[in-house]
Amino acid sequence: THFGFRDVAPDEKQGLVNGVFRNVAGNYDLMNDFMSVGVHRLWKDAMVSWLAPRKSGAPFTSLDMAGGTGDIALRIAHRSGGHARVMVADINDAMLGEGKKRAATDPMGDRLSFACMNAEKLPLEPRQFDAYTIAFGIRNVPDLDAALSEAHRVLKPGGRFMCLEFSQVVVPILDDIYERWSFDVIPWLGQMVAGDRDSYQYLVESIRKFPDQKAFEGRIRDAGFSRVTHRNFTGGIAAIHSGYKI
Ligand code: SAM
Repeated sequence: THFGFRDVAPDEKQGLVNGVFRNVAGNYDLMNDFMSVGVHRLWKDAMVSWLAPRKSGAPFTSLDMAGGTGDIALRIAHRSGGHARVMVADINDAMLGEGKKRAATDPMGDRLSFACMNAEKLPLEPRQFDAYTIAFGIRNVPDLDAALSEAHRVLKPGGRFMCLEFSQVVVPILDDIYERWSFDVIPWLGQMVAGDRDSYQYLVESIRKFPDQKAFEGRIRDAGFSRVTHRNFTGGIAAIHSGYKI
């Protein structure tokens, strides 16, 4: 499958975010496991099974935005029985580099391609993907609405938008525990495991600032998507939002 590109002017630096992911790239997978006590794997599995990429017929084309180390893309390739073609896109070369390394050792790695781009302004032709996925990426994008409307633009009619993101905890006691975990433990873990407290502090704060489940649904609808719904996971620590381009 060939993906179509269009020309865009080079984007401005996203300064802080790029610095963070450049710093964490090498330890990214390990830190994810530590920070979420491994649960991020289950959430990612849940997203890909809800997406249910087809296993026959025309190849299932998917764009995994902010795809970093290729976690979602590889799951889609496996889940489709090798039928999917996934473009892993990320603004950060260091993260893509880790993804390429991983793909090289995975039997489905050849279903993936990698491209550096900004979610706010995709160098891609419209209406070419069956799905657009973004996992733990969208809260890092400064202009959320631009990212959503670009997602809408590159999807085929009938295409699916899916976003996995930290969200608002909806269970009272879990709320307190989560608060302690994220504000006290995660920056400390960042220091111990990756020698970088500030980057992990940023991650925690960016979760705080992100719109809650209902508000985010509204933003997705405003970008033109239909049948917008969400599912909470682990009491709302994470949520998956889904919508269709009709
Ligand atoms: N999807 C992977 C996962 O779930 O493990 C990686 C998520 S990682 C927390 C967030 C990613 O978003 C980083 O790789 C970062 O480089 C990327 N990112 C941040 N801003 C971006 C932007 N404007 N456009 C595309 N990717 C961006």
